[in-house]
Amino acid sequence: MFRSEYADVPPVELPIHEAVLGHAADFGDTPALIDGTDGTTLTYEQLDRFHRRLAAAFADAGVRKGDVLALHSPNTIAYPTAFYAATRAGATVTTVHPLSTLDELAKQLRDSGASWIVTVSPLLETARTAAERVGGVREIFVCDSAPGHRSLIDMLAVAAPEPAVDIDPATDLAALPYSSGTTGLPKGVMLTHRSIATNLAQLEPVMPSGPGDRILAVLPFFHIYGLTALMNAPLRLGATVVVLPRFDLDSYLKAIVEHRITHLYVAPPIVLALAKHPAADRYDLSTVRHILSAAAPLDAKLAVACSARLGLPPVVQGYGMTELSPCSHLVPLAQAADAPPGTVGKLIAGTEMRIVSLDDPDKDVPVGEPGEVVIRGPQVMKGYLGRPQATADMIDADGWLYTGDVAYCDADGWLYVVDRVKELIKYKGFQVAPAELEALLTTHPGIADAAVIGHYNDDGNEVPHAFVVRHPTAPDLSESEVMMYVAERVAPYKRVRHVTFIAAVPRAASGKILRRELRELRELRELRE
Ligand code: AMP
Repeated sequence: MFRSEYADVPPVELPIHEAVLGHAADFGDTPALIDGTDGTTLTYEQLDRFHRRLAAAFADAGVRKGDVLALHSPNTIAYPTAFYAATRAGATVTTVHPLSTLDELAKQLRDSGASWIVTVSPLLETARTAAERVGGVREIFVCDSAPGHRSLIDMLAVAAPEPAVDIDPATDLAALPYSSGTTGLPKGVMLTHRSIATNLAQLEPVMPSGPGDRILAVLPFFHIYGLTALMNAPLRLGATVVVLPRFDLDSYLKAIVEHRITHLYVAPPIVLALAKHPAADRYDLSTVRHILSAAAPLDAKLAVACSARLGLPPVVQGYGMTELSPCSHLVPLAQAADAPPGTVGKLIAGTEMRIVSLDDPDKDVPVGEPGEVVIRGPQVMKGYLGRPQATADMIDADGWLYTGDVAYCDADGWLYVVDRVKELIKYKGFQVAPAELEALLTTHPGIADAAVIGHYNDDGNEVPHAFVVRHPTAPDLSESEVMMYVAERVAPYKRVRHVTFIAAVPRAASGKILRRELRELRELRELRE
């Protein structure tokens, strides 16, 4: 068993809005959030005041403890205000991918039991139609403005008392992001106030930050990595978050220069763009002191090429998952220059790890040998909403969470992720659940059966590859028809990028898809081509 070398941190027994904004008054006029597109600034004093006023307005509208509020928005400077106002009013925030299709949003609203939505006018139609389809949504608020809907800005003027909600940080849920975990469909990940807040405290010794630090927030707040590294962690420590709604390399580089960004929290595709794109040479990035990649595997050579080309500090990594609130490993900022290439870091404070045999999960493998990563700590989720069996399949009776990732740990405690035994595909750091695509593919009348696995393209991106069994009535079904069928029904990041027709999907007697056989089949085909 491996234990963190850092001193334990006591659990943070505070609601997340208190854990993050409890010291906001100390930072007063320091900019908390800057809109990277137009420069609009929100100071800490404003963020604190606005989230309290909005909490009062939410309570006045009927938001009560335990209600689920769906936050359906790209990154904006209003996002944190909406999030902390909702939790202060006692709600649990289910964060939604802004590119979700109508079906995807409807599923999340239904599964989470959402009764409130906060969205932005460009997404309003999708939100409205999904809410009508599902029922149970009492009101849709908009961050900007839209006829017939209350805007968060107008709600700041509502004269209502600040709600005094009694929150138990250990059991009450702050956030309900969706993740497919190791198998099956996306599930609501129950994260308590305490698990999220304690993960911030666990990170602080190795990821210190404070006033004067400027963080560029382009990765989405709806994903737990963005929510933690780009929103909760910097806002708790008085740093300034510069918000961009989407990634485009030129705007990203311009924002680094214009806002003298000190910290970049990225996913591997941004490292790739920084390492390879000709535009990157034209900017002076010397203000950047720290660059960290997480959410998907990062090629060690690419990391070195990126920092060498741009004269940046070493690109280091963190590791975690939604079910871990999210972090278990990080390369400490102070050791960025000494960390061995390719490592995802060391155990953060208060965290324990086992690496177990893939054949026998009760047996730990020797140091240096790969096995499944198993984690225990205060950051482990409470469970999957309404799915006790899925929870029990992932977390054992002693509190160990089986990640489905394969890694080895060296004698100095550095962890290296080498593979994944779970079904999950990560396209540019976003989750794609094979089970979801398989269920969709088999709704096509020309498809008798289907299985989906991840495939690494030449550009280093992992993409969904579908193995499809044609229905006897559709002998001419083509690859492009299959891809189109999926593309019309899912958010763009979930699209199937390769199709192979096969005679039968290999399955175990239990019906479980034998994904390893599909991987071998693909490798054989690649060898032949
Ligand atoms: P998510 O719940 O969306 O954050 O996805 C978590 C999964 O992303 C992990 O279980 C890993 O498979 C993968 N992941 C996260 N960080 C890394 C990393 N640094 N290297 C390799 N895979 C990672």
